[in-house]
Amino acid sequence: MAMTFGEKVAHLTGLLEGLDIDTSEPNGRALAAIADVLKEAATTVKDMEKRIVSLTEQIDAIDEDLDGLESYVYEELSGEDWDEDDELEDFEVEVQCPACQETFTVDNEIVQDGSINCPACSELLEFEVSFDVEEDETDDKE
Ligand SMILES: [Zn+2]
Repeated sequence: MAMTFGEKVAHLTGLLEGLDIDTSEPNGRALAAIADVLKEAATTVKDMEKRIVSLTEQIDAIDEDLDGLESYVYEELSGEDWDEDDELEDFEVEVQCPACQETFTVDNEIVQDGSINCPACSELLEFEVSFDVEEDETDDKE
C-alpha cells in the first residue's frame, strides 16, 4: 500500500533525526527547519482531508434535500411534473414593427432570445426581457 503524505513525512523526519543533526551548523538548522515545516504541512493536509470528506458528505445531503425541494415546489406551482423545457408559461405578445407597421405575435422563447427579424421587412426588433411587455417602441401611426 502506498504511503500517505503524513507517513512519508514521518519516515523522512525519522531519517533526519537519525543523522544526528548538529543544529549549531547552518546546514543542520536548515534541515531541522525543513523537518518542522514538513510536519506542519502533514498535519494541515490530514486536517484538510478530513474536512473535504465532511464537506462532501454535507454537499451530497444538501443536494438530495434540494432535489426533493425542487420537485415539491415546481409540482406545487405548476400542478404537474416539472419539465425542464417548460420553465415559463407559454405566452404570446403582439408587437408592431416600427419600420413597416406590420403587426405579428411572438412567443416567450423569442422574447427570451431578445430579438427577432420582422417577418415582413426583416428589420431587427429587440426586446427587453420583462414580464410586462409593452409596445412602448411602437410609433404612433395615426
Ligand atoms: Zn417590419
